Amino acid sequence: MILDAKIPAGPLAEKWSTHKFNLKLVNPANKRKYDIIVVGTGLAGGAAAASLAELGYNVKAYCFQDSPRRAHSIAAQGGINAAKNYRNDGDSVYRLFYDTIKGGDYRAREGNVYRLAEVSVNIIDQCVAQGVPFAREYGGLLDNRSFGGAQVSRTFYARGQTGQQLLLGAYSALNRQINAGKVKMYTRTEMLDVVIVDGKAQGIVTRNLETGKVETHTGHAVLLCTGGYGNVFYLSTNAMGCNVTAAWRAHKRGAFFGNPCYTQIHPTCIPVTGDHQSKLTLMSESLRNDGRVWAPKTVELAQKLRKGELKVTDLKEEDRDYFLERKYPSFGNLVPRDVASRNGKEMVDDGRGVGTTGVAVFLDFADAIKRLGEDAVRAKYGNLFDMYYQITNEDPYKQPMRIYPAVHYTMGGLWVDYNLMTNVEGLYALGEANFSDHGANRLGASALMQGLADGYFVIPYTVGDYLAKIGPKPVDANHPAFEQTKKDVEERIKKLLALKGNKTVDEYHRELGHIMWEYCGMARTEEGLKKAKGLIQSLRADFWKNAIVLGDNEELNQSLEKAGRVADFLELGELMVDDALMRNESCGGHFRVESQTPEGEALRDDDHFAFVAAWQYKGDNQPEELHKEELVFENVHLTQRSYK
Ligand SMILES: Cc1cc2nc3c(=O)[nH]c(=O)nc-3n(C[C@H](O)[C@H](O)[C@H](O)COP(=O)(O)OP(=O)(O)OC[C@H]3O[C@@H](n4cnc5c(N)ncnc54)[C@H](O)[C@@H]3O)c2cc1C
Repeated sequence: MILDAKIPAGPLAEKWSTHKFNLKLVNPANKRKYDIIVVGTGLAGGAAAASLAELGYNVKAYCFQDSPRRAHSIAAQGGINAAKNYRNDGDSVYRLFYDTIKGGDYRAREGNVYRLAEVSVNIIDQCVAQGVPFAREYGGLLDNRSFGGAQVSRTFYARGQTGQQLLLGAYSALNRQINAGKVKMYTRTEMLDVVIVDGKAQGIVTRNLETGKVETHTGHAVLLCTGGYGNVFYLSTNAMGCNVTAAWRAHKRGAFFGNPCYTQIHPTCIPVTGDHQSKLTLMSESLRNDGRVWAPKTVELAQKLRKGELKVTDLKEEDRDYFLERKYPSFGNLVPRDVASRNGKEMVDDGRGVGTTGVAVFLDFADAIKRLGEDAVRAKYGNLFDMYYQITNEDPYKQPMRIYPAVHYTMGGLWVDYNLMTNVEGLYALGEANFSDHGANRLGASALMQGLADGYFVIPYTVGDYLAKIGPKPVDANHPAFEQTKKDVEERIKKLLALKGNKTVDEYHRELGHIMWEYCGMARTEEGLKKAKGLIQSLRADFWKNAIVLGDNEELNQSLEKAGRVADFLELGELMVDDALMRNESCGGHFRVESQTPEGEALRDDDHFAFVAAWQYKGDNQPEELHKEELVFENVHLTQRSYK
C-alpha cells in the first residue's frame, strides 16, 4: 500500500497558502448541518472544538476529566515557540523550520514542519488576543527565552506555567461556544471505540465514568485530540490519566500507528528515588537557559558525594565537569533533549552519578545567582524552584538541583496526512496524539506550538474540505455498525470485570514500565528488544489470567478504567518494541547502540530508514504489517546532526 501524505506540490513557502486556496469550502449556512466529534479538550482539542464551533459547525466534545481545564496540557511549563523574531537575533520562519527538521533528526516531513513554523506566529497573536498573560519585557513587548536546539530566543512563556495559561485561553474560547450552544461538552466521558461505517469514521462509543452507561454518538467527522502515551513506561512526567486508549482502539479499527518507538526522554527531571513512586516531575527545559549541567570529574569524587563525605557546595570548580559545555561548545547546555539525556546517562554509566542512588547529575544555578542576583532568578523560575524544594527538601538557591532523564513525550502517534486525516476517512488526529511534525526528537516548546497550530489553524481549513465532499446528509445512527461497536465495548468491559486474579493492574503496569525503560528506553539493542518482546507477550497473557479488577460497571470505577488502559498499553508496548527493532539505525530519541558514531552520537542510516513507519493492525496477537512513507527532502540537506 502506498501511503499518500497529500503534501501539496510547489515551493515550500507556498505549499500551505496554495493548499488552503485549493481546499473546498462549506458555505456558512451549511456548516450548521454538520456534526463534528472532538475527543479530548486539551490544547489541541480545546482549540479545535472552539474554532470549529466559532465557524458554525455543531461540535460534540469529550474529555475524561471533570473539566477541560484539567487536561494534561495544563502541566506544560517552559513555553511555546514562535518565529516572531522580536529579539532581532536572526530568527525567521525558515530558521524555525530548519531547527525543527534538524532537531527531529531528519525524520519529519518538510511540508508539515514548514507549515508549523509559518502558523507559529499566528498562535501568539491569537493567544494574546485571548488575554494569555505572556511574560513581557521592560518596554512592554513580549519576552522570549531560549530552548534546546536553537541559537535564537523564540520561546514565549508565562513564568513556568505556560500550558496552564494557554489552556485557560483555549478553555475560555471553548466555554464561549458551550454557552452559545455550539459545543456540547461531555466531561467524565471516556471514548472506548470508533464507529466506522463503509470505511468512514462516523461516530464513537463512550462510557460515562460516573454511571458506567455505554453510549454511541454520531458525527460527520471524528477528531482524536487525546494526547500522548508516555505512561506506557509507568513512570513519566505525564499526568497520571494520560493513556493510549483512544488512539489504540482507533488503530485496531484500521488507523495506522506512526513511528510508535519515537519517545522523548527529557534530561531534567527529578530523579527516581524508589519503588514507591507513580509519577515523575519535570524541571522545565527553560532552566537550562541559566542552569549549568555538571557531574564530578572523577568516580572517586562522585562516591564521596554519594556517601555524604563531601558536600556538593565544597566541590572545587576544577573538580566539576560541565560536560555539555565541554562537548558541545556551540549549544552548551541548550543542546536538544535527546543529546542532553544521553550524555547524562553516560555520566551515570561511568560511575560519576550523584545523589543517594547515584542516578543523577547536577543542574547548578550558582553562577546565574552570582551574575543576576537571587531575585532575578526567582522572578524567572520561582515556581519551579519551589516545586523542587517541596519534593526534595533541598533548596536549589543554595545547592544544585539533582536531575536525571525521564520519559516525557511521544513523537509517535496515529499516522496522519497533511490534512491531519488518518488513513481512515473522516478520522483525524491532532496534537500529541498524531505522529506528525517532530520526527525522531521534539524540540522543547514545540508541542504546545503544534497542538495549537493543529487546533486553531490547520483543522478548521482541512476538515471543511472533507465535509464538503461527503455532504451534509445526517449520519444514520441506526446503522448496524453502531450497535455492533457498542456490543464489542460492552463485552470487553465484561471481560475486564471478570478478572478476579491476585495481581493488581498497577503491578502489571509497573512491570511493563520496567521492561520498556530497560529495553526500549534511552538505549536499545537488538538483543534487548527481542527479549522485551517475549517479556511483554508473557506479561500480557498473565494479565488476562491473573489480574484483579474490582467493582462493577454501573458506578465510578477507577479500577476498571485503569484496567482498560493498561490492557491497551500491554499491546502498544509490543508494537513499540517491534518498531524499535525494525529501525536498525539511531535517530533522535531512538538510540540503537549498534548504530553510533565513534563519539557516541546517534548514527542515522538515511539510505535505508528515511521513512515514516506506519503500522497496520492485523488482529489480536498477530504481527502488524509495516507500511513505509518515504520522506522526501527537497530543501534541507541531510547531514550528521552536530551541536558542537
Ligand atoms: C510536565 C510537562 C511539561 C511540559 N512543558 C511543555 C512546554 O513547556 N512546552 C511545550 O511545547 N510542551 C510541553 N509539554 C508537552 C505538552 O504539554 C503536551 O504535548 C501537550 O500539552 C499535549 O496536548 P494535547 O492537547 O495533544 O493533549 P492533552 O493535553 O494530553 O489532552 C488530552 C485530552 O484528551 C482527553 N482524552 C484522552 N483520552 C480520552 C478518551 N479515551 N476519551 C475521552 N477523552 C480522552 C483528555 O481528557 C484530555 O482532554 C510538557 C509536558 C509535560 C508532561
